[in-house]
Amino acid sequence: MLILFGPPGSGKGTQAAFVSKLLSIPAISTGDLLRAEAQRDTPQGRALRAHLATGELVSDETVGRLLARRLAEPSCRRGFLLDGYPRTVAQARSLASLLKDRALPEPEVLYLRVPDDHLLKRLSGRQQCPVCGHIYNDYFQPPAKPGICDNDGAALTHRSDDREDVIRERLAVYHRDTEPVLSYYRNGIFHIVDASGAEQQVHNAIEPFLLPAPALTR
Ligand code: AMP
Repeated sequence: MLILFGPPGSGKGTQAAFVSKLLSIPAISTGDLLRAEAQRDTPQGRALRAHLATGELVSDETVGRLLARRLAEPSCRRGFLLDGYPRTVAQARSLASLLKDRALPEPEVLYLRVPDDHLLKRLSGRQQCPVCGHIYNDYFQPPAKPGICDNDGAALTHRSDDREDVIRERLAVYHRDTEPVLSYYRNGIFHIVDASGAEQQVHNAIEPFLLPAPALTR
């Protein structure tokens, strides 16, 4: 079981898709689980939508409930990758007890490290195609025609929490509540990856941690 850990904008989603394909395990993003819940036209869905737009964390109970439901699905039996969870020390503790209850080994943590000034550009420039899911960036990876997906011509969209004031709040929340999770895992199976480069460079940096080392002798 793998955890992709890092600040908002460190490329967890992109790298999660790559790792998921490479290892044939599902990538589970708690942000995606929450956004799907927030689409519901119910008082809870509307409240969650408003909450996500502030950049603050959702309660440990709400996220824990959604995650436990997802992990109980058969597709997670052969292992899984977590993107965006745990984000608090309390979540790391509840994940540890969930893994223990299911007799699963301790997680392997890949920490995608990126400096804050770089994150700000990555997040404020981020645009996604609602049809194929491809992620562009105005600064680093712009589409050929501004605002239009190269693959299918759909109009690109910004996430409601990718506004500069909300981004600053999300980074502050990360430093305050999520960074302490690093100390929780540092003595376990823990790898630091420099994730400030281009997508492919980060893939290359991650890959050696995922594949079994080749035998040195025959
Ligand atoms: P993400 O897509 O991972 O950037 O998450 C988007 C938003 O969902 C975050 O800003 C939080 O409000 C919420 N969220 C995602 N994962 C968690 C989590 N593990 N705990 C609390 N809130 C979360």
